[in-house]
Amino acid sequence: MTTLIDPFSRKINYLRISVTDHCNYRCFYCRDEFHNNRTTRSEVLSLEEIARIARLFSELGVSKVRLTGGEPLIRKNILSLVEMLGKIPNINDMPLSTNAHLLKQHAQELQHLGVNRVNISIDSLQEKRFSDITRGGDLSKVIKGIDAAITAGMHPIKLNMVVMQDTNADEIEAMLDFAIDREIDIRFIETMPIGTSGIEASRQHISQADILARVEAHLKQDLQKIQLHDTDGPAHNYQIINSKSRVGVISAVSDNFCTTCNRVRLTAKGQLILCLGQENSVSLRDAIRAHKTDDEIKQIIINAIGKKPEKHEFDTNINNIELRQMVEIGG
Ligand code: SAM
Repeated sequence: MTTLIDPFSRKINYLRISVTDHCNYRCFYCRDEFHNNRTTRSEVLSLEEIARIARLFSELGVSKVRLTGGEPLIRKNILSLVEMLGKIPNINDMPLSTNAHLLKQHAQELQHLGVNRVNISIDSLQEKRFSDITRGGDLSKVIKGIDAAITAGMHPIKLNMVVMQDTNADEIEAMLDFAIDREIDIRFIETMPIGTSGIEASRQHISQADILARVEAHLKQDLQKIQLHDTDGPAHNYQIINSKSRVGVISAVSDNFCTTCNRVRLTAKGQLILCLGQENSVSLRDAIRAHKTDDEIKQIIINAIGKKPEKHEFDTNINNIELRQMVEIGG
């Protein structure tokens, strides 16, 4: 089978699919306050178009497909897409990133259709603060969503907390306890300067070293690093001794992990984005709608991978991503 290797000898085996650029939450670090995506239906890839692109990637060696957004669970008929993706032979890992607001009603069926694991964004355990960060989110619904994922048997379940010094950093310990109590994983994420909202929030930076020191002090243990698998993400993961939970830290800025990057991103409008922190992209939607054959589209993908940038430039040049909105790219 052909595999996708970029100019820096990185094997690309992971596709993140943003199934919608709409979200029912408006996290202040993710999208600008008055940001509105007036996407029309025809601009967005249909479910069949998404499934076709995923199949072509799988034929090029991609084995992991993540559903993200916007909020993937608000995409109409998302379960049909999950079903289509679940039938693609080479895709053996199909995680979901969600804010869990709607997870309670879908967890069981998602699990049944092959969503083997889930990442849930949760930045605070305090109702008012949670609502402020998400600009209107409902913490109780999210917690019910987390518990539904546990009941459905999804594994692993990873909570993602974007840590910001003046916003929620005082909840690192509470979030750890919450995850350990539920025997699920927790990852602390450094804010990335994407879009003006992300750039603004990045001023509340808290370093990986500080987060880990707080975790170790709270758990009263030295953390044991866990080895990564081939398609794993960029988190540094640690097993929490005497618990089923793991803790991870993702620090795209202070600890550049681009040398191990194995992923590309497909936006809801069909743009293939080669790097979260660079503008390079190509429209697969245009290729599909120009009635290109499978082989022609695969060649477009191979050519695009040949232009994957070496690294993001969050630390040296944020101007090129100022206009992007994380909500449109899918994190
Ligand atoms: N709605 C889904 C969710 O809430 O997980 C998926 C989309 S959301 C854009 C994916 C992830 O990106 C979330 O964990 C969110 O916290 C993270 N994110 C958004 N903006 C970010 C930023 N500027 N820096 C770091 N993480 C960010």
